[in-house]
Amino acid sequence: MDARRWLMGRITEAGLTAEIDGIGNVYGWDRQAKRKVLSGSHLETQNRSGWLDGAMGVIYALEAARSIRENPSLKGLGVDVAAFCDEEGHFISYLGSRSLVGDLSEAEMDSLVNRETGQPLRDALSAAGLAGLPRHRLAAKDYVAYVEGHIEQGNTLENKGATLGIVSAIVGNWQYEIEVLGQQNHAGSTRMAQRRDAGLELVRLLGAIDARFPALVTPDTVWTTGKIVLDPGAKSIVPGKATALFQFRDVDERLLTRLGVELEDILKEANANGRCQITATRISMNRPALMDAKLQQSITNTAQQRYPGASISMPSGAGHDGLWLSTVLPTAMLFVPSIGGISHHWSEDTCDDDITRGAEVFTASVVDMLREPD
Ligand SMILES: [Zn+2]
Repeated sequence: MDARRWLMGRITEAGLTAEIDGIGNVYGWDRQAKRKVLSGSHLETQNRSGWLDGAMGVIYALEAARSIRENPSLKGLGVDVAAFCDEEGHFISYLGSRSLVGDLSEAEMDSLVNRETGQPLRDALSAAGLAGLPRHRLAAKDYVAYVEGHIEQGNTLENKGATLGIVSAIVGNWQYEIEVLGQQNHAGSTRMAQRRDAGLELVRLLGAIDARFPALVTPDTVWTTGKIVLDPGAKSIVPGKATALFQFRDVDERLLTRLGVELEDILKEANANGRCQITATRISMNRPALMDAKLQQSITNTAQQRYPGASISMPSGAGHDGLWLSTVLPTAMLFVPSIGGISHHWSEDTCDDDITRGAEVFTASVVDMLREPD
């Protein structure tokens, strides 16, 4: 809340009207502009993480709004600023941007709790003095586009010697909970031939996925087992149950579908050949979000004019608020490098020159988008 109040002060200084809504989103409205872009990102990041993830994009938006307002030749054009609550999912991922685009119901809000503290979202909003405030709902007709600046959070830009990344798409992400049921038993007296070891079966399954996915994918496709739990998880007990959280990501929806089918096939074979019963439940399915082609071109042209050879087109492996905004507005994103590809860690950083160069190209691109006739 301190950060939100600080931001509202800076928004007011820039001549915009500051507002905080009932989900904790902060807005800066440009009441003079007739033709506008919406821009922003998120304020909070993961706990004990870095200083740029999200916050930099909010400041890019504010800087674009401020500098366009100060320029008399750009009269009538403007930027509304948005700082979205809880993109990282302390309560649920993209809480603020989902609220703005109308995807968050009051009933869902009633059900959300902080994943670390267990505090209900309603209590957190009350404690912050936000309970009962109206939630703002986006009117798509008010905007030409949504544009978001962000750090890359990977090392593609560094590896390619580029300093500006024009995002082609935000990857889709399919997540599964895999459950293996075997027979819990004594680790000393149960002979290998008799065992139904759920843990071993799970590891074999993950090995099969890792062996078979590479034949289907592109170099940008990624898959991850983020959590494995053996039950009961003791040194002298053959595990009777094993669960895993598994996900894969790509920009191509057809490829995601193929990987889903391949996973089903691998599961069927494992069930036919093994001694355990395996199920995979899809727990979420975020579709890839394509960035608007015309807006990408606008950023590409601006970057080429100012810093020839410094920009590349690239997909975003991480999810962003732009994912949700792209469901209602033409959307674009600009990345700047993360030193060493590090993010979601306190050492996350970007060279000052890269940050300012990004802000310059960002603002110039927004001006270009605003000048474009419809
Ligand atoms: Zn972020």
